[in-house]
Amino acid sequence: MNSATSASATASASRSHAQPASVEKVNLLGMTRQALEQFFEQMGERKFRAGQVMKWIHQYGVTDFEQMSNISGKLRSQLAEKCEIIAPEVVHRHYSKDGTRKWVFRVGDGDGSLVETVLIPADDKTGARKTLCISSQVGCALDCSFCSTGKQGFQRDLTPAEIIGQLWVANQSYMEDVPIAERTRSVTNVVMMGMGEPLLNFEPVVAAMSLMLDDFAYGMSKRRVTLSTSGVVPMIDKLAETIDVALAISLHAPNDALRDELVPINKKYPLEQLIAAAQRYLAKNGSDSQRKHVTIEYVMLDGVNDQAEHAQQLLKLLKNLPSKINLIPFNPFPHAPYGRSSRNRIMAFQKTLSDAGFVCTIRQTRGDDIDAACGQLVGQVADRTRRAERWKKKVADQHSEILRTQG
Ligand code: SAH
Ligand code: SF4
Repeated sequence: MNSATSASATASASRSHAQPASVEKVNLLGMTRQALEQFFEQMGERKFRAGQVMKWIHQYGVTDFEQMSNISGKLRSQLAEKCEIIAPEVVHRHYSKDGTRKWVFRVGDGDGSLVETVLIPADDKTGARKTLCISSQVGCALDCSFCSTGKQGFQRDLTPAEIIGQLWVANQSYMEDVPIAERTRSVTNVVMMGMGEPLLNFEPVVAAMSLMLDDFAYGMSKRRVTLSTSGVVPMIDKLAETIDVALAISLHAPNDALRDELVPINKKYPLEQLIAAAQRYLAKNGSDSQRKHVTIEYVMLDGVNDQAEHAQQLLKLLKNLPSKINLIPFNPFPHAPYGRSSRNRIMAFQKTLSDAGFVCTIRQTRGDDIDAACGQLVGQVADRTRRAERWKKKVADQHSEILRTQG
């Protein structure tokens, strides 16, 4: 394992808690092109300034208005007076020997909320593809039984600046010693698969994704930005109306009884509704769309959802949904009630699906040495605190029940 490196360099634009934010300043980092254009118009400036400033921020990683050389001195000082460019504070960063990088960010003003971001390079030796796994919320309200983020409960939505700031920092980490003129964006793919349910923090997530797609910011192709959801059906329809990105569905079970247990939101939006929403998502925008298929995520839980009968049920369920299936070996966490399916079991499951004509891959577990595997994004401290609270409550409830029955 490489030694952990100090967060100080990457965090140069990150807010230090020793220096409270000047609250009246506008943070330009999370503003979409549309919002920035309006902002400049209100200042009596031309709209195209938005694109110029966005390039400085997102493509060159510049946070000091004085360095924005194609902007007049007068406007630069006005901006410095009214605005700031602030990414969330990096409290820890770690680069693994396999190329995986992980950052822990503190978000909000000193409330101690932590989120994690992981960069996973392609396993093809070229290192050309770099996929960033981004968080959308602190914790998550949906409480899937195999997910450590869910065990933490919901704490807070991230702002657009906190979401796009994760991508900004990851790109910066490859630019630190590169002269401004030679800087390029290194992250090639984004998956909204970190902490939180992105469709339950809709507007900020869409704002951040529109920056990912914008040529003046990250200019990523629609195929390379993926939103993952556990199945908030009405919001899948809203997403289809709002922005064109790739969709991943965290399915994890091929029948309602099992899915109710693993992904409780299934009780509200059962499988039939979920599959229909995914079909509508693909149908939207017709043949022009990048939406040719959805990705189905399926975590492999030993003896729970990994049997031959589950593979058969899955085949039936996905019969009319163009999909690629990604089998995810379960990432264990302390006190997790499940184990990871064996390699043989996962391969047998994959064979059944592949033989029926599905593209079915097995997710590589990368970055295990820094606890950075996707779905494993949790502040252990927060998790422990939460569990201790629940345990105390459970014991107290049991005690009062004993007293009640004895009394
Ligand atoms: N809330 C969204 C996105 C974040 S979770 C969603 O559920 O889709 C990202 C992915 O990691 C999901 O597919 C989730 O089911 C999976 N995941 C969560 N906990 C995991 C674990 N312990 N092992 C493997 N995958 C896990
Ligand atoms: Fe939330 Fe996704 Fe974890 Fe479920 S799997 S608890 S939706 S983060």
